[in-house]
Amino acid sequence: MRTLIKLIPCIYLLLAIFPVDAIPVYVDGNETNKKVLLIGLDGLQLEELKKLDTPNIDKFFLNRCYAGGILNTVSEQPTYSGPGWTSILTGVWANKHGIYSNFDTSRDNKFPSLFRRIFQAYPNAVMGSISSWSPIHQFFHTDMALLSYVSDADTDAMVVQETLQFIHNSAPDFTFIHLGNVDNTGHFFCFGERYNRAIATIDHQVGEIIEFINNQKEDWLVILVTDHGRKANGCNHGGQTSSEKTAFIATNKKQYQQPEPLDNDVYSYPALTRVADIILDFLEVPVTLNKSAYANKINAVINWSHSTAYFFLEDGKYIEYDKEADHILSIANIDDHSWPGLADYATNISAAINWDDTRAIIFLDNGKYITLNKANRSVLAIEDINEQTWPGLEKYALRINAAIDWSPNLAFILLSSGQYILLDKQKKQILHVAYIDDVSSPGLKSYARNITAFSHWSENYAYIFLDNGQYLKFDQRNYHVIYSNDINKNTWPDF
Ligand SMILES: [Zn+2]
Repeated sequence: MRTLIKLIPCIYLLLAIFPVDAIPVYVDGNETNKKVLLIGLDGLQLEELKKLDTPNIDKFFLNRCYAGGILNTVSEQPTYSGPGWTSILTGVWANKHGIYSNFDTSRDNKFPSLFRRIFQAYPNAVMGSISSWSPIHQFFHTDMALLSYVSDADTDAMVVQETLQFIHNSAPDFTFIHLGNVDNTGHFFCFGERYNRAIATIDHQVGEIIEFINNQKEDWLVILVTDHGRKANGCNHGGQTSSEKTAFIATNKKQYQQPEPLDNDVYSYPALTRVADIILDFLEVPVTLNKSAYANKINAVINWSHSTAYFFLEDGKYIEYDKEADHILSIANIDDHSWPGLADYATNISAAINWDDTRAIIFLDNGKYITLNKANRSVLAIEDINEQTWPGLEKYALRINAAIDWSPNLAFILLSSGQYILLDKQKKQILHVAYIDDVSSPGLKSYARNITAFSHWSENYAYIFLDNGQYLKFDQRNYHVIYSNDINKNTWPDF
């Protein structure tokens, strides 16, 4: 057993959010665990690497590739680390991901990162990113909450040590790490003795990681990749010369090695963006996941009891959902047998809320509300929302999108205008009306007008359902969005 793994107090940003499940992949009827480690070797010139004896990197199946997009086309991008790493982690060039420099922070989320693609396919995947260059985590800041472990380490040695610790402690499914010393050495000293020594060091570090991985029992794909080459003297990079565009992808799996091209033209080699394709292929992440049949039909969700939630669908059906077992118990029509008195309003439901031990309330899209007897799901009363029945609510009555019981005394109603209403349940009194913003509920603002249902789910979190078939997991204690995702067969298997 290696002794490198020291259980030092964790001073790093550690976001333990997900239940720890591995990615189950079935091969020949047997469940295997596929694991991916992507090792970034910043600014490592392939030609210099080839001149040296690097026993560990030499064990990999290596392909030269090209960085910087295609010259004089829309995909051309500077051979800097910002665009380079973003292309590696998204599989697209800067004309799509939007990062052209090391200082850009506005990545275009339309082209999802590997982290998000893997998460969409395997919501329980454990992922981590450990980088010696912190801008990478800035480029992907909107995805960092999907990861169990994110760390900006000061040195490559620390990156390696944290990587081994993380793999040992968390059994991650996908880990990205970045080693920056070779690039830094090139900037200070250009090619030469010091650069070569930095390559020898990084080769040793790769060897340390590989030795550790080889002792794991899962099926590991390890990829080495550099983000760009360098100018002829090795000092700098950023341009489109042949040596700056020369990069490489190396894997421990022969199946991902490409045949050598017949000519030496830079574009005869694979593109740097191929890294993402290799990883998605290995993990069997589908190109697109079909959204569920019900995902776009949710009108309201109600937290009925500790174990049961009801979904009301726009076509007048309802779903009884077992929250503990996490599956659908039944899907049926709202009729006089299932919900006595509700059938006439089945397609008009805009929000539903668990009110107290005996009653639930349903808001309709016509300005009325229904009080339900929870004991037998029957309608107790149908009333207009007006000054007598519900003081102050009438002017918002036609804009109610969702409602959630927050505590025994408090409830929230969400409006199509992006506002929320805080209610005192006992007095049926409006306490507060405001716009959802990033101060009151971080991460929720951009979804505020698309919320169609909001339901307390378990002790600390709630689910928010959107009108585009997505859902948000919401930290009810700290009022922030934990993550967003599609409702599909992987995230909500029964849907
Ligand atoms: Zn550099």
